[in-house]
Amino acid sequence: MPHTETMPKDDGLRVLFLPPTRRDRDVLVRLFERANLSYLVCQDIKALSVEIDRDVGVLLLTDGAFAHREVEELWSALARQPSWSEVPSIVLCESGSQSMAVTRCVQNLRNVTVLEKPTSSRTLISAIQAGLRARARQYQMRDQLLALQTSEAALLTATRQLTDSNRRKDEFLAMLAHELRNPLAPIMNASEIMARLVTEPQLQATVRLLKRQTAHLTRLVDDLLDLSRITSGRIELRREPLDIAAVVSQALEIAEPLMREKDHTFLVATGYERMFVRGDHARLVQSIANLLNNAAKYTDSGGEIRLEVQKQEDDVVIIISDNGIGIAPDLLPLIFDLFVQADHSLDRSQGGLGIGLSVVKRLIEMHKGKVLAESDGSGRGSTFKVRLPLIEAPASSEVTHARPRAAPKRVLIVDDNADAANSLATVLELEGHQVEAVYSAEKALSTATAMQPDVIVLDIGLPAMNGYEVATLLRPVLSSTQLIALTGYGQREDVLRAKEAGFDAHFVKPVDVPSLTQLISDFSKTK
Ligand code: ADP
Repeated sequence: MPHTETMPKDDGLRVLFLPPTRRDRDVLVRLFERANLSYLVCQDIKALSVEIDRDVGVLLLTDGAFAHREVEELWSALARQPSWSEVPSIVLCESGSQSMAVTRCVQNLRNVTVLEKPTSSRTLISAIQAGLRARARQYQMRDQLLALQTSEAALLTATRQLTDSNRRKDEFLAMLAHELRNPLAPIMNASEIMARLVTEPQLQATVRLLKRQTAHLTRLVDDLLDLSRITSGRIELRREPLDIAAVVSQALEIAEPLMREKDHTFLVATGYERMFVRGDHARLVQSIANLLNNAAKYTDSGGEIRLEVQKQEDDVVIIISDNGIGIAPDLLPLIFDLFVQADHSLDRSQGGLGIGLSVVKRLIEMHKGKVLAESDGSGRGSTFKVRLPLIEAPASSEVTHARPRAAPKRVLIVDDNADAANSLATVLELEGHQVEAVYSAEKALSTATAMQPDVIVLDIGLPAMNGYEVATLLRPVLSSTQLIALTGYGQREDVLRAKEAGFDAHFVKPVDVPSLTQLISDFSKTK
């Protein structure tokens, strides 16, 4: 025998009911037929609970149902309803009955109408219709919720995809900058070699061009590397007390070639007072040099660039102004944003990537400073102001000692990039050292033991066995040899790892050749 019988007017809003007797069932079915209602007669509470899980418009019960042992199943089915659902229920109870069961049912059925028997057909049908209308509104709410959830999910997917592609872009930029740096090392070394060897004036000019363009390319790649470090929050500052004059003068030195090339008049106004800031020398020099280079770059030849250093209350303000192409008012508020560039054709050969100013802003802010741009508009020059907090003058200022003349050293260079190894070897030979270059970790181990070098310049990214492993093996047998690591990265972890592996120094590619040669020349076996 089936547990349910139904009238298939399936508009989704069915009256589920559990008649206590066959007679009750017949009366109600007739009533529903007349009122044109969809209904489902359930034989017992179990069947009713199953149907509630499927779909319910209105629940029609008599108080007798609550005395039943299986009633807990009904409460569970109602508790399983989603949060938008409050099933409209109608309970028909005996006249004057205020049984415990009815009280409990009123508590459990949150949306309930209790009708006392005998009740008129009209009252019952209108109560059912009111319940069905309420249920229809709940279904509308459910549909809206569903639509909202669907669009929320779509939004979430889109956000995830954007974040993913942004991360992939950042990773690509980091990888690109890293990969571009590798071939730059031998090219820089080669240009250093040629600068030392070439005497013919015509070739000297070519070598100067080569050096200049390589330096430019290095600057672009460095910008890219800085960008990827900034976006991943991996820039670290080495802070120390700095004389602002030293920062400015080194920045001037960097910008000077471009100033001269473009025949700019360059005016510098610094006070006599010594001012100190706490900061990373290289990063502050980079920031000021970047602003000076921009001033030179975005000013037609023969322009005027000024640099002024002022003390303003507890800050030092470095003002760089030019009478160049200026910045349009609509661009000015965006000028420190990534990849923002004015649409200009001026001197594209000096063109950059639109990264420099955002790197400057970030670096200055990391120093608890501020940078701002001013311009009266296109063609009316620009002014950039860097403001940094001053500190007290440090107790003892650093003294630079004159360097003694270098004694020749035995140097072993290990790099799987043979061009990089050989060109660096030639530079060091020109410095008077006795140099050998090898291209694998295996060869490095055998040569080092036989050669007993004073200095080993060791690339970290070797195949098969990396530079850290090679250093760990060599350190115990060559206790007094200077070990210098060469890596494509300059992160704090790399420096620490290099120290742990026994390295004495750490250089980032492309190697700053003068610093490396100086380090090697300065080294004396003391261990
Ligand atoms: P890049 O110089 O590589 O394009 P920057 O971030 O250094 O990138 O500069 C972004 C843009 O700001 C430049 O492309 C240029 O349009 C504008 N700009 C920067 N400095 C100046 C300046 N001194 N005068 C006029 N425009 C400038």
